[in-house]
Amino acid sequence: MPTYTPPIREMQFVLHELLDVSSAYGEMPRHAEINRELVDQVLEQGGRFCAEVLAPLNRTGDEEGCTFAGDGVVRTPAGFQAAWAQFRDAGWPTLSCDPEYGGQGMPSAVGIAFQEMMNSANQAFTMYPGLTHGAYDCLLAHGTPEQKALYLPRLVSGQWMGTMCLTEPHCGTDLGMLRTRAELQADGSYRITGTKIFISAGEHDLVENIVHLVLARLPDAPGGTKGISLFIVPKFRVGADGSLGERNGVKAARLEHKMGINANATCEMQFDGAVGTMVGEPNKGLNAMFVMMNAARIGVGMQSLGLTEVAYQNAVAYARDRLQSRALTGPKAADKPADPIIVHPDVRRMLLTQRAYLEGSRAFAYWLALHADRAEHHPDEAERKASHDLLALLTPVVKAFLTDNGFLCANLAMQVYGGHGYIRDNGMEQFVRDARINMIYEGTNTIQSLDLLGRKVLGDAGAKLRRFGALINELVEAEGTREAMAEFINPLADLGQKVEKLTMEIGMKALQNPDEAGAAAVDYLRVIGHLVMSYFWARIARIALDHPDDPFYQTKLAVARFYFARLQPETAACIRSARAGAASVMALDAALF
Ligand SMILES: Cc1cc2nc3c(=O)[nH]c(=O)nc-3n(C[C@H](O)[C@H](O)[C@H](O)COP(=O)(O)OP(=O)(O)OC[C@H]3O[C@@H](n4cnc5c(N)ncnc54)[C@H](O)[C@@H]3O)c2cc1C
Repeated sequence: MPTYTPPIREMQFVLHELLDVSSAYGEMPRHAEINRELVDQVLEQGGRFCAEVLAPLNRTGDEEGCTFAGDGVVRTPAGFQAAWAQFRDAGWPTLSCDPEYGGQGMPSAVGIAFQEMMNSANQAFTMYPGLTHGAYDCLLAHGTPEQKALYLPRLVSGQWMGTMCLTEPHCGTDLGMLRTRAELQADGSYRITGTKIFISAGEHDLVENIVHLVLARLPDAPGGTKGISLFIVPKFRVGADGSLGERNGVKAARLEHKMGINANATCEMQFDGAVGTMVGEPNKGLNAMFVMMNAARIGVGMQSLGLTEVAYQNAVAYARDRLQSRALTGPKAADKPADPIIVHPDVRRMLLTQRAYLEGSRAFAYWLALHADRAEHHPDEAERKASHDLLALLTPVVKAFLTDNGFLCANLAMQVYGGHGYIRDNGMEQFVRDARINMIYEGTNTIQSLDLLGRKVLGDAGAKLRRFGALINELVEAEGTREAMAEFINPLADLGQKVEKLTMEIGMKALQNPDEAGAAAVDYLRVIGHLVMSYFWARIARIALDHPDDPFYQTKLAVARFYFARLQPETAACIRSARAGAASVMALDAALF
């Protein structure tokens, strides 16, 4: 069985030393009370809950999975109900919600650290409150005062849970094709009819009511994405005072059997004249749903970060313990029959790859969460706009780069175990299976790449990208003359210049032929992901250089050096591939594949 120890010191490093969240939040009246002690308390208590309550259910939940008991009834695996009750009673669902609706009002950078720990402990469990939080975000932004008063306090307290119902059998990526219908009733409500598939947490036994946020089409709606509206459809109809009424016309028709996250109920949902109310304006449903989707995209990145941490922890322990062969340079544990495999260069490469992506990504993701709060709550409008731009630009990167790396790292962790990783006993193969979905849902990583290159970069002639470039330039100017920083700053600056050129080149080519952007997008996102990693590893190294005698910081320097020496060079191949253009991809006739 894998073990999990919350990496509190690592999280404190990012939150307090790298981001200085107490000062950063001090600028925002809404979060001015945030201080180190408060943040550390959340990390300690949250970490304990994750390690003691959620982690022990990860393996058993995977093995048992959810059960479809017929007639729309879905049961979660043994222990999930009790864990949820503990989670709810301890107030964890309320952590980063608005105090007006019963939340504790903790900022996103703290909420995201807790999310990371939950995902390390149990991704399948974490998805239940994760989707609920997405529904909360969406209703907070777009609900009417009545909808907010009715639903938000119950979602925040954990009395009810939420889902997002977008996908249909014939449409996943292209939601413009969705067919679920919504018909206006005399009382102003709507009747929703249609089939949604792959709905996470669509039906289960954890709470008394499930609040579905459903995309559907009004009878007179225009075709495509401009004709989609958003509706709240509760499993049990709700009285004005929040009391539960009769069962609504929505039911789980079946449960998917899948590769991983087996303890999360992935349901086909049948809406059969279910009563709902509209959220936001008619035909503007996709805009409203984007609030939920953007939060969920960062959430999915955190799923992979959490998995990378737990897989890495176990792989390191195994590599220190497992004895095989002697080191190439002669025995290192002469008293033992062989050396621990951590002496072998390639085992170290695998561990350091995980660690470099893990720590660089943690810095990136927590920083992005801080910008999500700045975008909402900073008193200065220009600052809000700057943070909003960074958030928009880098949300597809946090989703796709972290999940691609999460799968890579889970695989490397399994590889460190050799055959003992492939068999089920050690739990590593579960991490690989669980990590795989993160690259697919919430918009596949291809779609994230198209969003980054097409909408976020070329769509505004590079303005958002220049905002991030300005942060890099600031760091390069501040540290460019410090000799000890040269090994980190030079490759960062160099990559920054290459990104500028690459962006211009793809932009020009795409004007002639849109397939050029489509063919370059995935490589392009990978390059931007490395630009972000390079920026954060340079910032981490800057702090570490000030502590020459402390092993914690010396480890940071060693990993930074590994990152720049062994991982960042991947960008050369990606840039070359992106520049190769669409011709070789598009040449073959579809019939000849
Ligand atoms: C376990 C699980 C849980 C899920 N949970 C939810 C949920 O809670 N709610 C919900 O609504 N949905 C959910 N989904 C659905 C998920 O979001 C979709 O599967 C995903 O968006 C992809 O859609 P699709 O499966 O229809 O693939 P398709 O859209 O058919 O795509 C197939 C392939 O074509 C590629 N492709 C499609 N269009 C383009 C394009 N324009 N350019 C380039 N490539 C393209 C895709 O990247 C992909 O590789 C879940 C799915 C799974 C498996």
